[in-house]
Amino acid sequence: MSPVRRCSRTACALPAVATLTYVYADRAAVVGPLAVHAEPHCYDLCEDHANRLTAPLGWEVVRHSPEAADVVRKRSSDDLEALADAVREAARPAAGGIVAGPDGATGRRGHLRALPTPG
Ligand SMILES: [Zn+2]
Repeated sequence: MSPVRRCSRTACALPAVATLTYVYADRAAVVGPLAVHAEPHCYDLCEDHANRLTAPLGWEVVRHSPEAADVVRKRSSDDLEALADAVREAARPAAGGIVAGPDGATGRRGHLRALPTPG
């Protein structure tokens, strides 16, 4: 076994800190602590790639690592802020006469995230 495992992303040479596992049955991309054994459907990721991971459409990202959870919380609050801005924007009376279409009001909902349970 090699002492340092590398991120499995192309052109990324950073050491892996997390393992991504695709759970096809649940359509979940699970990011957890570095797996002891390399397994099929598992991909080692560096911190950067683990944090930036997005699930394919229709899948959800589930994060288990405490470190990653911190980052997720931080990113999520950013996302929530952006979402809140977008909602405020959409909810604003159309003073300028521009009315959002039926689908324009809420925007995309494709990026819901599974948040780690506190504790
Ligand atoms: Zn990487």
